[in-house]
Amino acid sequence: TNSATNTQSIGETTLSAHTIAVALPVPLKRNFHYLSDSAVSPGCRVRVPFSNRELIGTVVEDNSTPHSGELKAIIEIIDEAPFANQRWWQLINFTASYYLAPIGEVISSALPKNLRDGRPLSNYRADWFQLTDVNAVAKGVQQQRCLDALRSGPMEWSQLREAKVTRATLKRLLELELVAEYDHLGAETPCRLTQSPPEPNAEQLAAITAITQSTGFSSWLIDGITGSGKTEVYLRSIEHCLAQGQQALVLVPEIALTPQTLERFSARFATRIAVLHSGLARGARCEDWVSAADGLARIIIGTRSAIFAPIPKLGLIVVDEEHDLSYKQQDGFHYSARDLAIVRAKHAQCPVILGSATPSLESLANAERGAYQRLELSARAGGASSPSVELVDIRQASRDTGLTMAALDSISSCLARGEQALVFINRRGYSPALMCQHCGWIADCPACTRHFTVHQRHQQLVCHHCDVVEPVTHRCPQCFSQQLDRVGEGTERIEERLIQLFPDTPTIRIDRDTTRSAQQLAENLELVNNGQPCILVGTQMLAKGHHFERVTLVVVLDIDSGLYAADFRAPERTGQLLTQVMGRAGRAELAGQVLVQTSLPDHPLLQSLLSQPYRIYASMLLAERQRFGQPPFSAAALLRADHPHQHQVDQCLSLARNFCANAVQHGVLQCQGPMPAPLAMRNGRQRGQLWFFASHRNKLHSAMQALDELLTNSKLVGGLRWSIDIDPQDS
Ligand code: ADP
Ligand code: ZN
Ligand code: ZN
Repeated sequence: TNSATNTQSIGETTLSAHTIAVALPVPLKRNFHYLSDSAVSPGCRVRVPFSNRELIGTVVEDNSTPHSGELKAIIEIIDEAPFANQRWWQLINFTASYYLAPIGEVISSALPKNLRDGRPLSNYRADWFQLTDVNAVAKGVQQQRCLDALRSGPMEWSQLREAKVTRATLKRLLELELVAEYDHLGAETPCRLTQSPPEPNAEQLAAITAITQSTGFSSWLIDGITGSGKTEVYLRSIEHCLAQGQQALVLVPEIALTPQTLERFSARFATRIAVLHSGLARGARCEDWVSAADGLARIIIGTRSAIFAPIPKLGLIVVDEEHDLSYKQQDGFHYSARDLAIVRAKHAQCPVILGSATPSLESLANAERGAYQRLELSARAGGASSPSVELVDIRQASRDTGLTMAALDSISSCLARGEQALVFINRRGYSPALMCQHCGWIADCPACTRHFTVHQRHQQLVCHHCDVVEPVTHRCPQCFSQQLDRVGEGTERIEERLIQLFPDTPTIRIDRDTTRSAQQLAENLELVNNGQPCILVGTQMLAKGHHFERVTLVVVLDIDSGLYAADFRAPERTGQLLTQVMGRAGRAELAGQVLVQTSLPDHPLLQSLLSQPYRIYASMLLAERQRFGQPPFSAAALLRADHPHQHQVDQCLSLARNFCANAVQHGVLQCQGPMPAPLAMRNGRQRGQLWFFASHRNKLHSAMQALDELLTNSKLVGGLRWSIDIDPQDS
């Protein structure tokens, strides 16, 4: 046996055993050692005893440093071979170290549920069938149908069944040796163009050429206004990647956008496309994940966590709507899928494309200092023109349920032209407050420091921060008056009023309450895509990436809250949101019109946003960030802590603050806080935070590593929760 093998005595017999290091899905930043009778390759899953449970772990090292303590034996080896290659491990290790996360937890977020639970990969692999001779002719309609189906390339049984082939027919053709069966790895996924793409315009062509002619690692920022044809650039770059026999990974910000993306991609390419997001049935998700890991799926479309899918022949990464906040994981360990896309492309030595009409300031700064190459698409593709924009001052205008006469007139004439209108209000529910007319009492969530939102249909008061639900009260608990007002508007109330005002036109509400799944969204949007006149009412869900051909009017109801917000990122977020919403208008031949209702028509941010391209607005914001040394001109980290009692939160944050006092004194770090979180109480827990800034990312990282160790090893009071967020995106 191997020289590094550890010898362990058990009773009378002496067994030769391997000591293996295993990463487990537990919140401890270390590996665990076990004994195994046989060698296990790193990257294989094993079942092991842990406390009184069994856990599924992944082997990190075989023959790891012999451990002196008494080791337990593993229960079962699950994988015969590692499910991913070295490059994947490079990504997992980088992630764990950069975001201060246990490797086992990073692996957990990479694996779909059923694989985390230890099911074998083979459960999710299908057999493939292929013609033995392309010119084969068969007897009868049934057999011919099967051969015809296979002419476009190998297929799985499920695909053949969809093509109305029976098991019996397939069996007969196998016997006749007109069709051959493959195991999953034998089949080369075919890859053909099924649609002749539009001729790229000059800017698109320049982008496509630059990307496809690059070799090795390169990162591209496609800064293209809404409707400028960024997707076409992705498709052409993917075509090039597939032609090299490689796989392409495409990240989209929302589950809701995957059907639309899948549809466009499968209309272009006849090849296997894997879709990875949490809204899928578990089995289907595993099948797609395994097909990506086996190299069979040539295109992988997914949301945030798809960044961790094993993709052995990775040749291109696309991050669409790269500015979107949903790329940042907000609980568990706080990774950014967009930032990891850059790291992963570097490991794979392939291009990565970040695309947006409203690029993040981080990416713009990266482009400015030459880390990314910026490609601009400055005009709408296919002849569409940019919409006209008008501000409506609500201080002077009379309003009906939040809608000004100007807005209602525009909606009427839009519908009369047979077109579609979109009303944007970034607040779901009926109204954001329930208030007593007499004493001014407002219904507040008992567990948070926020008002309840009224939800009319279910007669509920809902806290949008902790999801506490109470029945609507009809009497003020303070003065017993029965005159309670629903103050202000949300999507539900606007929808109700629009239905009353335009009874002959369908009104479709799109928000988190009406749209719980991608399928539901698709159903809701069917009417919109059919093209008949209708009114869409919705939250920011509507602002993301949708392509509505017949929407020509966009009415924006509440942008003011974003102009008042104190967070240093608010001007960026507000600018992005408004630009994206406006971008839904007039995306095809029909001209678009945008009305923005505001009580701050002279606000400098609003003025500069509407009078010039987003790019110029963004460069103004960047200059300001630079002046104040804020990200991206410094690196930031945020320590968050929460506990039912405020003084426990304070204690933890002061401990951290004191620990860094020296570094602060020497100018290595800047601290801000401790301070209450923007939502100072949530779910009955007090929340506090402490900001860290440094001009050097490495220095910040070492400091956070040390802080992480300190807090991990400190005897903090029970029930205290804390986390360190590297590159936080919200406070
Ligand atoms: P973006 O992703 O930048 O918002 P899309 O890729 O969705 O824009 O393109 C908007 C519309 O323009 C789509 O209907 C697309 O098919 C069309 N389009 C894109 N490029 C071209 C082109 N070169 N010629 C004609 N139409 C195009
Ligand atoms: Zn009252
Ligand atoms: Zn609450």
